[in-house]
Formats: sequence, structure tokens, C-alpha cells
Amino acid sequence: MPRPITAIIHHEALQHNLDIARKNMPYSKVFAVVKANAYGHGIERVYHAFQAADGFAFIDLDEGKRLRALGCTRQLLLLEGVFAFDDLYFCQKHQISFAIHSEHQVQWLEQFSQLNPEAKFDIFLKMNSGMNRLGFTPEQYPHIWQRLSKLNVVQSITHMTHFSDADGERFGQDGVKYQQDIFESITQKLEGETSISNSAAILRHSNHLQSDYVRSGIMLYGSSPDYPTHNIQDWNLKPTMSLRSEIIAIQNIKAGDSVGYGSNFIAEHDMKIGVVACGYADGYQRISPTGTPVLVDSIRTTTIGRVSMDMLVVDLTSIKNAQIGSEVVLWGYSSQGVVLSIDEVATTSGTVGYELMCAVTARVNFVQSQ
Ligand SMILES: *Cc1c(COP(=O)(O)O)cnc(C)c1O
Repeated sequence: MPRPITAIIHHEALQHNLDIARKNMPYSKVFAVVKANAYGHGIERVYHAFQAADGFAFIDLDEGKRLRALGCTRQLLLLEGVFAFDDLYFCQKHQISFAIHSEHQVQWLEQFSQLNPEAKFDIFLKMNSGMNRLGFTPEQYPHIWQRLSKLNVVQSITHMTHFSDADGERFGQDGVKYQQDIFESITQKLEGETSISNSAAILRHSNHLQSDYVRSGIMLYGSSPDYPTHNIQDWNLKPTMSLRSEIIAIQNIKAGDSVGYGSNFIAEHDMKIGVVACGYADGYQRISPTGTPVLVDSIRTTTIGRVSMDMLVVDLTSIKNAQIGSEVVLWGYSSQGVVLSIDEVATTSGTVGYELMCAVTARVNFVQSQ
């Protein structure tokens, strides 16, 4: 028998969450962002649930190839654009739209245009409106737009930017206003559609922020981008991944006994503890401290001591019926339908739901459910 750890991917929840993105932005085309192998869920496992998406956005060329292999005929968008000149041939072959965020990519496209004047690309021109990772400054932007508009391989140019603070405030003010104003002041004078919002902007700012294309990522995977201000129930989202395992050993320890490497947990009273087949080699964060929530037989309890490579330990003192084989939910749904939010586990561990779901490793058995 394989180790009992399983990641269950919930088809209906993925569909439901995409529907929420659509309902928030009824006038926009919705890209399902499937980078990082669909936020750790597996592109092949989410693809059919995202049939209602207008397109798919990702970072790796290979992810585009896999989508085409699944029969996808929708628009595909390479969010960071190409990494080398030859990638443009790949984009031509697989009909992949791409971002252009810097001068070297413009030069590659100019060169490509001379060699392959028959190619046709829909490009997404990225403005650096304040986040200072990728994109052209507002001053450069109109000039780059002019240069690209002249290329015969460029069929359309969509104006694109990305928010640093759509999930909260920026310098004590509305988190998107600063970047939105810059972006709009430049792009209003130029032709073309726009693509601005990520999940946080879709959920929090849809009343004043419209764009022709939205790029929904984390919300599709049942994590709230602005947790703990809002949890997934507040946004009507459902968990899409349940990481479950089982109790494989039980110990009764005495006050003063320690648990695990480093003996950093010492029992204050007699305790019943359970060993769970889940460790950092499965993607559970080693940094998750004593007190990280888990469900055992659908009842909340917490981890104790250090997470090790293949195991972690939970407190069973208040779960009298727990036994070998009892179900342990690290996040997501229990088989009884009780939810442990990935956002809560992430926050206790000093990180975000994004990181937890992306980190689940290949040795975990993935299964799909309705
Ligand atoms: C990852 C990404 C998104 C999606 O962000 P979420 O917060 O997951 O919705 C949107 N746009 C770009 C450019 C991205 O890299």
C-alpha cells in the first residue's frame, strides 16, 4: 500500500470558483491562471473544470504545450513573455500570446518580424505602474507601443499592468488607486484592450476597476487573497485541494516528555499524541509551528513539535476515539465535509495559501473528485 497521504482536487469547487470570478467581472474575458502547474493542482487535473474560461495564462512554455495537448483552443498567455528569441517560434507554432515587458523582448520581436513577416501575434504590453518588477515605465510606454504597432507580426496590443497591493492598502490609501491612475492616464490615449485585475482586484475592486481581460489565479484555487480581512466564505469560494493523511502511530506521553527533533515541544501534562504520515518532503512546511491547526476525524486539533521529513505529530488528547488510520486533514475538506482553510494553516505558518498549495511534492498521491 502507498503511504496514506493524498491530495484531492475538487472539480466542482474549481468550476464554482471560476464562476465567482465571472460573476464579479461580467464584462471581462477571464483568464484562468495556471502557472506553477495550476498552483500545484496539476494542469491536467484542473483543465476540464476551467472549460468556461476564455483563456489560460502561465509562465512556462511547456505549460502552454500541455494545454494544447489537452485540446485547448482558447487563448493562451505567457505572463512574463519569452525567455529567449527561439521561444517566439514556439509561440508561433502553438499560437501563444505573450507579454512584452522589456527592451530585449521588443528587439527579439523586431528581429523575428523581419525573418517571419507572416507570423501573427496578440501581445500584452506590460506597464510598470509602480510595482517595479516587470514592465516599461509610463514615460517609455507610449514609445514602445508605437514601435510595436509598426510590426507586421503584431496583430493586437493589449495594455497590461499588475498590482502590488490589490489585497490591501498602499501607503495607507486604497491599494490600487495609485497604479490605476498611472495606467489609465497613459493607456486612455492609446488604442487597445486592457488587462489589469488579479484575484484580489477582481474580488475587492470590481466596482471601480474594469478591464477587458482579468487574470484570476488564487481565487480559483479556493484561497482568499486578502485573508484574514476576508476568508473564503466571505468571498463565496470553495477549497479546491484537500491534503489528507492518516494517523500511523499513537503515543501516550507524560508531563515533561518532549516530542520530535530538537525536543522543542515539552508536554505540560500527560497527553495522547498521534504521528501523521505527512512531512516536509510532502510539501508541508517545516516552519509550521506547534499550534498549526489540523483536523483529526473532522475534529480540530493542532500540530506539536517540529515537522520532520516524513512525519508530523498532533495532539489527540481531546480526540478520544482517534486510532491508527484515523483521517487527518492538513487543509481542505474532511471526508465529513468539515473545512480547514488553507489560509488559516498558511497564516499560522507565516506564509500564504499560494505557497502551501504550490509546495505539495510529487510523491504525494493526487486524486480527483467531483
Ligand atoms: C500570478 C499572476 C496573476 C494571478 O494572481 P493571483 O493573485 O493568483 O490572482 C495575475 N497576473 C500576473 C501577471 C501574474 O503573474
